[in-house]
Amino acid sequence: MPYPLSATKLQDYHRCPKSYYFKYERGLKTKAFFVSPALGKALHAALAKIYWDWHYLDPLPKMTWINQCWESVSSLLSSELQASGAEILNTYYCQFIAPLISLRKPLAVEGKIQATLNLCNVDFKITGRYDRLDWLEDGLELIDYKSTKTMPAFDPDEIDLQIGLYYLALEQKYHQSLKQMSLLYVQLGEEIVFEATPEHKQQVEATIGELAVQLRTDSEWQPNPGKQCTKCTYTRYCPAVTDPPDPLPDRAKEQSHLQLSLELD
Ligand code: SF4
Repeated sequence: MPYPLSATKLQDYHRCPKSYYFKYERGLKTKAFFVSPALGKALHAALAKIYWDWHYLDPLPKMTWINQCWESVSSLLSSELQASGAEILNTYYCQFIAPLISLRKPLAVEGKIQATLNLCNVDFKITGRYDRLDWLEDGLELIDYKSTKTMPAFDPDEIDLQIGLYYLALEQKYHQSLKQMSLLYVQLGEEIVFEATPEHKQQVEATIGELAVQLRTDSEWQPNPGKQCTKCTYTRYCPAVTDPPDPLPDRAKEQSHLQLSLELD
């Protein structure tokens, strides 16, 4: 069975191998990881519809098309959320659609990424999601919509890993290079564009290689104390910050032992 990997998992591993171990190897996840606000979900659905269902016979849709898409996905929301979603999409339209000469049909919307990789004799299955994939003249642009009201401070290493993983996966599927990853903050009307290069792919392969060695040798997962500890939910189990650490709770799953992939000569 290939070892499942995603950009989030790889970023977690890079941030702290010990917390990665608690979360993924021992299954100590908190409910907070799965919370998804209804407004954010509806906005993502509306944006997918706006781009995917547009007939592309006219160069640009009017605001009525945006409202129509929003109404079709927001009927279960409260009237307050419906109104704020409509306002957010109005800002989005003014910022990202109205200034264009024509709307470009995406290659895909709300897509899944899947790829495989074998490093250090470990099979990895890479999975992920994206909101929109556009063709550029010389490659691909991956677009993610963000519905938060504030823009986070980006950790350059974590962004690089995310770009590298997308680069690797999209190259396998489309035989095209990722040229840029864009984060569109729909509430703020802001866009941040990150350039993607083959070096991102090399960097991600190096990190996955480290993870492969860790998984193969079953050695101690090292804590990486730092500012990330202030938000960590595993401090009580972590020997780097709690002496002595609490034993893991009964709900912790048994550590799985990796089945290595072996090539036959
Ligand atoms: S407390 Fe800090 S060092 Fe320990 S697992 Fe959490 S992030 Fe890692």
